[in-house]
Order: sequence, then C-alpha cells, then structure tokens
Amino acid sequence: MPYPDGLDRATELAHQAFSRMSGMQLPPHPDNFTLWYMYYSGELPDLVRTVDFMTRDGLPFTAKRCDELFRRFFSVDSETQAIREAGERTQRLLSKVVDLLQGLGKDSGHYGRTLDDFKSELEEPLTVDQLRALVTAVAAETKVVAEQHQRLQGHISDTSTQLAELRASLQTARREALTDSLTGIGNRKAFDFALNEAVAAAIPENQPLSLMMIDIDHFKKFNDAHGHLVGDHVLRLVARVLTECIKGRDSAARYGGEEFAIVLPMTTLANATALAEQVRKTVGSRKIVNRNRNESFGNITLSIGVAEYVRGEPLNELIQRADTGLYTAKRTGRNRVAAQVRTTPEAHAG
Ligand code: GH3
Ligand code: MG
Ligand code: MG
Repeated sequence: MPYPDGLDRATELAHQAFSRMSGMQLPPHPDNFTLWYMYYSGELPDLVRTVDFMTRDGLPFTAKRCDELFRRFFSVDSETQAIREAGERTQRLLSKVVDLLQGLGKDSGHYGRTLDDFKSELEEPLTVDQLRALVTAVAAETKVVAEQHQRLQGHISDTSTQLAELRASLQTARREALTDSLTGIGNRKAFDFALNEAVAAAIPENQPLSLMMIDIDHFKKFNDAHGHLVGDHVLRLVARVLTECIKGRDSAARYGGEEFAIVLPMTTLANATALAEQVRKTVGSRKIVNRNRNESFGNITLSIGVAEYVRGEPLNELIQRADTGLYTAKRTGRNRVAAQVRTTPEAHAG
C-alpha cells in the first residue's frame, strides 16, 4: 500500500493514531497502527465509514474488533489467500501422484525383469516340481504388482476427489470475496468487475450501457429512530427489490454503506431511468414492519442518479456523473430519479 503523505502529515497521522490507540488502551502494534493511521488519513472511505458507524453506535474497539478490521481492510484478501493455499495443496497432491507413478514404473520394471528371468528359465527343460515352483513365484510377483496397481488406483481416486473439493472451495472463496455479507448481493469489488466487464463489452459492440447509483434517503435518521438491526433489515430489503427489478446481464451491488449501484448493459439512459423509477416506486411502496411485534416502521425512499456511458469516457467519470444525478435527486427533494446527461466540450461547441 503506498503511503504518499509528506513528513509533517505522516507525523500528524501517526500522532493521531497513537493517541487514539492509547485512549482505547490498544497495543500499538503494527496492525493497529496501520488501521488507525489509515483511518485518520481518510484514504479508504469504506474504512472511515465503518469506523465512524461503529463509533456512532457506541461499539467498543476491542483488540478483537481491531484485528477483524485490520484483516478486512489490509490483510491479503480472502480470495488471494484461498488461491495461494489451493496452489500449495495442488502442488503437494501432484507431487504425491508423481511419486506414486515413479514408484509404479520402478516396480513394473522389476516385474518385467522377473518375468524375463522366468521366461529364460522356461526355455530350459523343467521338472513338474520346478514348473510348479515357477508358477507359484510368478503368481506371487503378479499379486504384488496387482496390489500396487490397486493401491495406486485408490490414491489416484483420492487425489481426484481432493482436487474436486479444492476446485469447489476455490469457487466458494471467489463467490464470498465478491459478495456483500449483509445483503447477499455483489459487493464493491463485484461492482468494479461488473462495470469493467460491461464497458469492455459495450465498446466493440457499440451498445449502450447505463449506470444507476442509489442512496437511501435520511437513513441515518431511520437508524437513529429504529436501531441498527432494523436498518440492516432495510438494507436487505432494498437489495432484494433491486434483484427482483433487474434481469439478464444487469448486476446490482452494494456500493458501500446505504448506497447501491446497478450496472445495466445494453440499456439506454431512457430505459435505465424508467427502471430507476420502477425501483424507486417499489421500495417506496414497501411497508417496513416487525412481524413479531406487528409494529410498523413506515416507509423508506430512495434517491437515484442515472447516467449513460459515453464511449471513451473514463469509468470514474461515468460513476461521477451518476453520482451527480444522485446529488441532484437529493437536492431537489429526495425520493426521485435524476438522469445525468453528459455535457461534453463538443456539445458546448455545437
Ligand atoms: P441522505 O438522504 O442525504 O442520504 O441522508 P442519510 O442519512 O441517508 O445519509 P448519511 O450519509 O448522513 O448517513 C448514512 C447512514 O447510513 C449512516 C449510517 O447510520 C447508515 N449506514 C451505513 N451503513 C450501514 C449498515 O451497514 N447498517 C445500518 N443499519 N446502517 C448503515
Ligand atoms: Mg449515502
Ligand atoms: Mg442516504
């Protein structure tokens, strides 16, 4: 991770990190230091959001929680780790198979030589007793080789079972690394993948592509009024509605906190705006209730910004434009959709 801060700024961040750690009686070991230094630097918005959110909810930063945060934001991500472990396991398995095959080759060589010896003995005139002894010896050798084959077959089938398990656990690790654990839809990383892929496909095919950025209105107030758990329930509800409203190649993700995004390949701005309206209306019409206590928490609303990709524009500009739409929707009263049309220098010139 690059640390671009100059000496003064880095010193200030280090002081802030130290005083926060000592205030919370956290040991200032490298992991904790990294966590708090990076928090004060503001370089990782997701980290800042998470820490602020925990602070607001009065959750104590115990050593265990800090450790979890460190692992979540700084350690090698689970996908990379799983892939490395799988690689190591595969290597071990394969070297076991090679050993077995080499052993078999050696033993079959031995078997072949034994048979050759028997054959040359057979060329001599033999008594019945000698013949019987020879047959017994060949049978014994054959049994040894047959057993070796059987063992090898067992090992090979074990190995292929283990390889299949490995493949499955890799797939699971990959899926988990791209899934938001609270809502079950894609996370920010999945969103990045989906957007990159969609743009890569849209360019050569000259197809439209749109992006929707969605933010829950006054969610802080909702959380304050009804508690964090009800808030989490709402996040899951929104994720479910998004999944229900999209189809085919569209992909919905939790962009962070109470923000969501939908990548819409082959979709024009007009169609994306219509879909955004549908999402907004569907969420707005759902009553949030506690079924156990038959208690109603009212409704929640969404503000949505929509933008269509313009060939050649950098991805962050597309995201920025959808965000501008979202900001317009908030500014003009929330619970609405705002489409953002790109005003290019060419457009101004014309
Ligand atoms: P606005 O209409 O301007 O978007 O107002 P807002 O209150 O929704 O926006 P703000 O950014 O001020 O607050 C977002 C809130 O979202 C803060 C936090 O309470 C809540 N939030 C973020 N992540 C989570 C989460 O994982 N669970 C819950 N329950 N709440 C979350
Ligand atoms: Mg927000
Ligand atoms: Mg909000």
